[in-house]
Amino acid sequence: MSHEDCIFCKIIQGDIPSAKVYEDDNVYAFLDISQVTKGHTLVIPKEHTKNIYETSPEVAKELFARIPFIANAIKKSYNPLGMNVLNNNESAAEQSVFHLHLHLIPRYGEGDGYS
Ligand code: 5GP
Ligand code: ZN
Repeated sequence: MSHEDCIFCKIIQGDIPSAKVYEDDNVYAFLDISQVTKGHTLVIPKEHTKNIYETSPEVAKELFARIPFIANAIKKSYNPLGMNVLNNNESAAEQSVFHLHLHLIPRYGEGDGYS
């Protein structure tokens, strides 16, 4: 179920353009508009859920189950040395979009601009 004022729901619906990395019935992945490193990707459930506190085990399971495939696709495309998986919940933890998302942040060694 989509949420009226949610930008990520609008991205899933195609109302806001995005650079798609992966899509299936339950999950959508796209490049973050603000690339902290090359290939920085957001992975989101299609079902709107605010953050990890409000996410059902079923939605969490579907989301996390896709991470290995998506991470390997990014690895193949960008050839990073490593990758961070990050999730922010609530403003105090720097969540700025209130639709659950995982950041996949490829790392390229010292000087990749991310710390
Ligand atoms: P948060 O700070 O909530 O963990 O991450 C939200 C992320 O969403 C930020 O890294 C921000 O750059 C990204 N973002 C916000 N609006 C858009 C958008 O319209 N398109 C895309 N591709 N990314 C967005
Ligand atoms: Zn949403």
